[in-house]
Amino acid sequence: STAAAAPSVRAPLPVLGQDVTVPLVTGGEVAYAALDYAASAPALQRVWDDVAAYAPYYGSVHRGAGYLSQLSTDLFENARRTVAEFLDCRTGDQVVFTRSTTDSLNLLAAALPDGCEVFVFETEHHASLLPWGSPHAAGRRGSNARVTYLDAPRSPRQAVETLERALADRDPHGPALVCVTGASNVTGELWPVRELAAAAHAHGARIVLDAAQLAPHHPVSVRDLDVDWVAFSGHKLYAPFGSGVLAGRADWLREAGPYLAGGGASRTVTRRADGGVDVEWHEGAARHEAGSPNVIGAHAVASACKALTEAGFDALVAREKELIRVVREGLADVPEVRFLSLFGDDAPRVGVLSFVVEGWNGSHFAAALSAEYGIGVRDGLFCAHPLVRTLLGGDPGTRGECGAPGAAPGGKSFDAVRVSFGAGTPDEHVERFVRAVR
Ligand code: PMP
Repeated sequence: STAAAAPSVRAPLPVLGQDVTVPLVTGGEVAYAALDYAASAPALQRVWDDVAAYAPYYGSVHRGAGYLSQLSTDLFENARRTVAEFLDCRTGDQVVFTRSTTDSLNLLAAALPDGCEVFVFETEHHASLLPWGSPHAAGRRGSNARVTYLDAPRSPRQAVETLERALADRDPHGPALVCVTGASNVTGELWPVRELAAAAHAHGARIVLDAAQLAPHHPVSVRDLDVDWVAFSGHKLYAPFGSGVLAGRADWLREAGPYLAGGGASRTVTRRADGGVDVEWHEGAARHEAGSPNVIGAHAVASACKALTEAGFDALVAREKELIRVVREGLADVPEVRFLSLFGDDAPRVGVLSFVVEGWNGSHFAAALSAEYGIGVRDGLFCAHPLVRTLLGGDPGTRGECGAPGAAPGGKSFDAVRVSFGAGTPDEHVERFVRAVR
């Protein structure tokens, strides 16, 4: 059996899982090369240590006079402050702990003012494409939103122009929201968030940034980007599953009914003379955090925010750029490999690359990388069907929602393969990937 790969000497932040070995169909086993950070990043060792250190002490948040309950409440509220600092929030901004980016955006969708217009590029991940005005939100605030889907731009400048054109026609006095992703989960490309925010504000609209792919790779400053809200997921930010964040302006969140009704969100509940109940809801973040909160998840997210801030993003950005170069140059003379991009192959991006391999179905290709080389990548349509349709110039309709294997029409591949990396990715994993693809 093959020995586990030595831990990376160049990794700025150690992660868990690099000594996990997996069996190969060719015999023996090999150190698992997790190259699917864009789906879920491995947990930072530091995050896991912080969670383990706290585990014996936890108690229910906001619900007890006991010492451990108080400790947990402090930890939870400190986590909120850490996240606000990490995102460079404005005074008065709110940090709401959610389950994920998907949950955060659905929460905002349920808090839209009446008659809100929403502008969203067709290139978004389904989490930022689908929550707006969707039928499942019927009866809620925001369910009557009018959504305009914008065509895929072919340059950052075209993205801004497309948005400006769409906003120019609207009534500047009515409420409007633009939703944009900071870095694509398919191409890794960076979007011109600051410029889009300026365009939105110039037309009286607000903007929410889907930072699920941006926050793990780049500093995100709410102030500097001048976005109204930011959403991200803990499990892509080197923390475990089950926690996310929606941070930003308090007003729409305060004016909306609670996302979930229940304890924690309610300040007082009284029985009326007519037999019903009157509820006064909290106004702060608690309004949308009903039920016992995920204190471990919030603590883990805060720990990841601190670890990333202390390590600094410069080293991580430089490292990812270098790994992208290794992949691009290593495969430059393989004509069957075509990388996917909207803004051009050299556009700035985070450590995420998708490609198609001529003559291969993406799912078969990814399965071979796993079975023969112990490499974990993602294949499919990446929960971004309209974007992948645009990039591949075809109809990806025969694949499942997030890319479950399906027949490729006429034997032609309508799915892609995605490789992604970040903190802790050893050189050896990326070199093995290049060798395997070749
Ligand atoms: N937005 C983007 C850009 C993403 O990449 C993802 C996850 N793939 C999401 C939103 C949704 O994140 P989650 O599944 O954690 O809710």
